Amino acid sequence: MPKSYHSFAMHKIKFFLPIILISFCTAQLELQGFVFHDRNENGVMDQTETGIGGQRVSNGKDIVLSDKSGHFSISAQQNDVIFIIKPPNWDILTNEFGIPNFFHNVRMNPSAAYLKYKAFETALLPETIYFPLVQSKVERKFQAIISGDPQPRDSIEIQYYREEIIAKMLVEKDMAFYVPLGDIMYDDLSLYPYYLEQVGTLGIPIWHVLGNHDLNYRAKNDTEAHETWNSFFGPDYYSFEYGDVHFIAMNTVYYEGWNTEENKRGSYMGLLTETQLTWIENDLKYVSGNDRIVLLSHIPIISDVYQGERVEVTNRDALFQLLADHKYLLGLSGHMHYIENMYITDTHGWNQKTSFQNMVLGAACGAWWYGPLQADGIPYAYHYDGTPNGYFNFKFSRNAYHYDFVPGASDPNITFRISTPEGKVPYAMTDTMQIAVNVFYGSENTVVTCTLDDQSLHLEKQFHAEDPFMNRIIQNNPDHYPKMENMPINNHMWMGKTGKLAKGQHVLRVKVVNDNGTVEKQVKIFEVF
Ligand SMILES: [Zn+2]
Repeated sequence: MPKSYHSFAMHKIKFFLPIILISFCTAQLELQGFVFHDRNENGVMDQTETGIGGQRVSNGKDIVLSDKSGHFSISAQQNDVIFIIKPPNWDILTNEFGIPNFFHNVRMNPSAAYLKYKAFETALLPETIYFPLVQSKVERKFQAIISGDPQPRDSIEIQYYREEIIAKMLVEKDMAFYVPLGDIMYDDLSLYPYYLEQVGTLGIPIWHVLGNHDLNYRAKNDTEAHETWNSFFGPDYYSFEYGDVHFIAMNTVYYEGWNTEENKRGSYMGLLTETQLTWIENDLKYVSGNDRIVLLSHIPIISDVYQGERVEVTNRDALFQLLADHKYLLGLSGHMHYIENMYITDTHGWNQKTSFQNMVLGAACGAWWYGPLQADGIPYAYHYDGTPNGYFNFKFSRNAYHYDFVPGASDPNITFRISTPEGKVPYAMTDTMQIAVNVFYGSENTVVTCTLDDQSLHLEKQFHAEDPFMNRIIQNNPDHYPKMENMPINNHMWMGKTGKLAKGQHVLRVKVVNDNGTVEKQVKIFEVF
């Protein structure tokens, strides 16, 4: 784990006089910098410290390499973020909140006064850009925590996140980094510092992905909408490497700008801009064919459960073309507040033989921190698909991966829940009674077996079903679900009929073998009267 230090290398940034800035306003700049071995980890290139050649530096479109002395030269424009692509054999120091020191904002002007959340108070034009790297071993095996949306709307919900999710993450051992997949906030961007204080307790690097609720809605356009994000977290898309894995943090949210006609927030859609696609194309040129490429995004590349321009990347075909020659892929996303575990195939426009697993990882906040309260006042924030809120741990070994779902502190169910039958069932209803098992990250490769009073029963995977457990929770707690309209469907229910049952006690046993190899058994006793 890299040692933290308290401030970014901002103290090294010098500013041109405003008069010089004006002359540069529309111009393309050529920025100079160094990638160097920061032996004493102070963030400053001291006289005794040497440059590192062959390192990738990007302006969000082009990628240049540092020369033998560590020097690089890269073109930049207003609003660009210059960043380094973390290589597997070097570490990047973080600030005290876990944000890696891998970027510099290029600002010729402060942010516009009409933005609700301020970003850049002054121009920031680095005279020379320095990227300090600290030496590390290439770890062929490493683990990472990856979660969907934390999405707190206020400081109380940030505390829920801390106690339900971060506290549980702190129990994990030997995690290389954490990735929250966007919607870090729920619109109130003034809460980023308070969020960072909590998440910073993890003590590991945190690579943030931008979501649609992380935007400055008053912005005139998509680029301006990222300014607050850029000031806290750096570029809105970038890549980084650990071991044999190349992670691409994409920005799949395209914001159309403030709706001036109706004076309200503009709409957004799932889209990769042309500039980002060009950058991905350039980025992939440096990726070995044997490396795993993990695509991290807020809005999923695609979903089998819900379709539409706000929930999928609308121009994914262009992305598929760029990935066509790569053999080891994995897509991970948030945004949907449910879990989905599927494979992208030719029916989705992926015409390669390569297996392309695509997972929506749910949300750290579940259903936006709604739900009945626990004794400590924190909601049981189940997702509407019936999955507990939580996060995933990924273990990578060379280019292979393994994952586990970890529910938040309040839920004991690791991989599934028997939703029905439940409690006491009238004899007359057993004719039509359903067994419903919610396998939280069930996929087409999950095996679910079931016995009822020692007779085996077949359960069938459903592709569009509701979880009766969640229906009960919502019906019993209407005050805790203010926005509940339609019960969302999911594609991970296994269902079957019990058939006519005698009065008395019945024992249902369910065994789930997940596609990650995890085996879990549960038993349910119910009564027919
Ligand atoms: Zn979202």
